Amino acid sequence: MKITFLGTGTSQGIPVIGSTHPVCLSANSKDKRLRVSILVEWKDNTFVVDCGPDFRQQMLRANPERIDAVIFTHEHADHTAGLDDIRPFFFKQGDIDIYAHNRVLGQLQQRFEYIFTSEIKYPGVPNLIQNEVKNEPFTINNLEIIPIEGLHYKLPVFGYRFGNFAYLTDMKTIAEAEMLKLQNLDVLVINALREKEHISHFNLDEALAMISKLKPKKAYLTHISHYLGFHDEVQQKLPKNVFLAYDELTINISN
Ligand SMILES: [Zn+2]
Ligand SMILES: [Zn+2]
Repeated sequence: MKITFLGTGTSQGIPVIGSTHPVCLSANSKDKRLRVSILVEWKDNTFVVDCGPDFRQQMLRANPERIDAVIFTHEHADHTAGLDDIRPFFFKQGDIDIYAHNRVLGQLQQRFEYIFTSEIKYPGVPNLIQNEVKNEPFTINNLEIIPIEGLHYKLPVFGYRFGNFAYLTDMKTIAEAEMLKLQNLDVLVINALREKEHISHFNLDEALAMISKLKPKKAYLTHISHYLGFHDEVQQKLPKNVFLAYDELTINISN
């Protein structure tokens, strides 16, 4: 299994438009973060988790041949706003499967009404096949994916486990029963916004506490704000099996 971090930034991305914060002005490419998303290449399948406003740019730089499914964590704009740019894949492959909680599918139907309308569509509008994700394992082309529910302030969001890899973003709390799904991981990706506490996202200490509890072999932090600091400085302070993810980082996991 190969994971590519398409984006690792929080909702505004880094640099933030108009910001003079030193991290936003950094020349280090690891301090430039598009909105969060990953590409999962697993046994001849290619999945993308979330499809935010930087999707087009992310697809141009990662350049996957096809997308077998788009799997959504939740409906926030930084995770969904790029859906229209699925069109080049639709033109090449035909209908594309999307997977999301029913509430999230409803939100997508509202925001992209022209895609999901039952009326005759404008030429060039993509056809997306909606698949509801409940909090139970499901399969795409015989590959099992296990949702993990967490809370993003009060909003339920899904993380996903693919084999011994799990991806959690935009979480602030995870119930004990859900954490049982995260045992024996080779790699855990978890959100860590900044040092200061936040109402709807794990801060660095909370993310590190989750990592100590779940004990994956390796962990990577994502959904990062410029307030967390410079990539290279933050990395030096992390425990030895914990890494700050950065855009275009790829990791290989034996499955
Ligand atoms: Zn987000
Ligand atoms: Zn969110």
